[in-house]
Amino acid sequence: MNQTTLMTPGPTMVRENVRLARACEMTNPDLDPEFFRFYRETCNKIARILRTRNDIRILSGEGILGLEAACASLCEPGDRVLVLENGIFGEGFADFVRMYGGEPVFFHGDRRRGLDPEALRCFLETDLAGGGFFRGFKFATLVHCDTPSGVLNDLGALCPLLHEYGILTVADCVSSMAGHVIETDKWHVDIVLGASQKAFSAPPGLTFLSVSNEAWRAINARKAPIASYYANLALWEDYEERMWFPYTMPAADIQGLSVAADNILADPDIFARHAMVGGGARDFVEDAGLKLFLARDYSDTVTVIEAPAGVDVEVVRQRLLDDRGIMIAGSFGFLKGKVFRIGHMGESAQIPLVRETVKGLVKAIGCAG
Ligand SMILES: *Cc1c(COP(=O)(O)O)cnc(C)c1O
Repeated sequence: MNQTTLMTPGPTMVRENVRLARACEMTNPDLDPEFFRFYRETCNKIARILRTRNDIRILSGEGILGLEAACASLCEPGDRVLVLENGIFGEGFADFVRMYGGEPVFFHGDRRRGLDPEALRCFLETDLAGGGFFRGFKFATLVHCDTPSGVLNDLGALCPLLHEYGILTVADCVSSMAGHVIETDKWHVDIVLGASQKAFSAPPGLTFLSVSNEAWRAINARKAPIASYYANLALWEDYEERMWFPYTMPAADIQGLSVAADNILADPDIFARHAMVGGGARDFVEDAGLKLFLARDYSDTVTVIEAPAGVDVEVVRQRLLDDRGIMIAGSFGFLKGKVFRIGHMGESAQIPLVRETVKGLVKAIGCAG
């Protein structure tokens, strides 16, 4: 494969030490006690990144598996589930809730800015005054960075508020993790979901999550069995005592992930750098006369730019790739064909790369217009 500069909001570029770690000698991950220790150590590294004492589990499957596993394991038929949405991934949680028999109730937000905690408080009060007093929400789903629009929700305000109302929280942090600070314990986030191929800068294929004691309790208190095997988190609770994984672990993927976590932990400026690069990306875009999609609450891992009228996003993307070897993304759902997305997370969170990408984008738009 050629050396494309990946400026997409995942999958991202993978550093050489991560790629080499995947090529090391393998053991039998089902039988070797050393592998159980290694898995545990890798989980501990993720816990440090997520600032949590909660349990961490790494599952074999892309990020979507984590979203589905959280819903499959918590939802029982008839459960009311609060789905906070101001973007495509936020809204999409409702599909998983329904699939596992839950009843999604939406809290909608403006798609050009982050969810408003005060509006959420009003919503929760109104719900309590109505039917919610008798049948509260079992859990809430929300997204930290909703990647198709790049909007960043304030987990530090929203999750403590939901906790105050006794509602468990499931937060999709797939595209924010390692780019934005996540205070899992301080913010009372019960399940935090991540994946290998975004700011972690490891290849796609793994999802990992933290699970609080309260979330384990809710999973264990179920009356209905979990309608999945692959997405059943209950099977993972005491894997270590049983020295048993529900299925054979992808040892090479986890070897890569472990080194990717080392890279993150060895980089004390990682969050400050993402903030600087995110701010820089927005400045470059506006200085070039292009328009940002969002009004405020920008993620520092992805920048979303409106395509000028009459410009074909796919043609411009291809030109940027052909001329400069830089790959950026379009978007999907309600943003399909309307925006460009530049990822600047993990290995791609570097000012020179972002500057070159915006410059190339402007040039490619000029040619296409
Ligand atoms: C990337 C991502 C996922 C995983 O989805 P894929 O499109 O399959 O990679 C889930 N949630 C968010 C917010 C993401 O950015």
